[in-house]
Amino acid sequence: IIYENHIREKYMNPIGVFGGTFDPIHYGHLRTAYEMLQALKFDEVRFMPCGKPPHRNEPRADSTVRLSMVTAAIQGQKGFIVDDREINREGPSYSVDTLKTLRTDFPLRSLGLIVGMDAFLGLPEWYQWREILELSHIVVAHRPGWRMPDMGPLDELLKERGTHRVDDLHQSKSGYIYIHEVTQLEISSTDIRTLVRSGRNPRFLTPASVTKIINDSKCYKNKLTN
Ligand code: ATP
Repeated sequence: IIYENHIREKYMNPIGVFGGTFDPIHYGHLRTAYEMLQALKFDEVRFMPCGKPPHRNEPRADSTVRLSMVTAAIQGQKGFIVDDREINREGPSYSVDTLKTLRTDFPLRSLGLIVGMDAFLGLPEWYQWREILELSHIVVAHRPGWRMPDMGPLDELLKERGTHRVDDLHQSKSGYIYIHEVTQLEISSTDIRTLVRSGRNPRFLTPASVTKIINDSKCYKNKLTN
């Protein structure tokens, strides 16, 4: 049965892995994941809130609140699932470790790590970053205001591993970098937190269910006034 499952898995569409702080999740994340799901023919996109982010400050909202915001936001969207493995793991959330555990769960499946352009530009600072492409593809979402590097290690990596063919992401289970233009929504979690701290409502930047959790949990400290 295990063998049969593996064979079946080999012919299934790729899994998109969307990691982030999601502090809070917003329509920039959701629209990006949705466009990737459709354009790249992913079987599913797994939203993976991080526990302790290694490259930045501690998130403002507790991991349980961030997890419940993600769960609420993706509710009802076919192909979107939440994966809490990073939140439940001790220590910093290194992508390479996360991908190793996914590889164990899905040995033959193509995996596509979804990152925004800003995150991709920081890749050479990630822990064991070169190993990531042994485990998955990297799918880069083009974000407002960011340009591709035209020199340095990322430029070299792109020349070596870049592809414009969606089929490459389906036919190999790892190793390619694919850049995909997504609808540019200039929304950031930082801006939402700032808004909320001043008592304003982030309505239409994030789903109403998320706004409700922000308000009820007071995770960004303020009760919304309007
Ligand atoms: P912050 O403002 O706290 O830095 P953020 O809005 O960038 O947060 P993250 O949770 O850090 O959100 O982002 C998770 C991933 O989503 C990253 O790869 C990031 O590049 C991407 N991302 C964030 N906002 C957008 C957006 N508006 N459009 C496309 N991708 C986005």
